[in-house]
Amino acid sequence: MDEKKVREAIAWMENERRIHKYGTHISPSIPKEQISKIGECYDLAIEALEKQLPKKVIIKDWCPSYCPSCGYELSEDLGDGYYRHPTFIERCPNPDCGQKLDWSE
Ligand SMILES: [Zn+2]
Repeated sequence: MDEKKVREAIAWMENERRIHKYGTHISPSIPKEQISKIGECYDLAIEALEKQLPKKVIIKDWCPSYCPSCGYELSEDLGDGYYRHPTFIERCPNPDCGQKLDWSE
């Protein structure tokens, strides 16, 4: 996916979500439940799109590496206080997550 387009889509939807949340520019004829449903849909879409943008992996010295979105442990414990960080993994292996990962320092 084109990162620039994804960022633009997120920005656009965040703005739309805000408009719906605060009820500006909304016809009073739209029921409240429908407005909150629209907000939920934007939240879901934004969350899904953010997983398409690489996010920095959480790496600290002498610690395992973790997915920045769900906290899934990515590294392999070598048993002696060392961890092997699988920098070749492009996405979080947690099937509920799938966050695109950035391993750069
Ligand atoms: Zn994850």
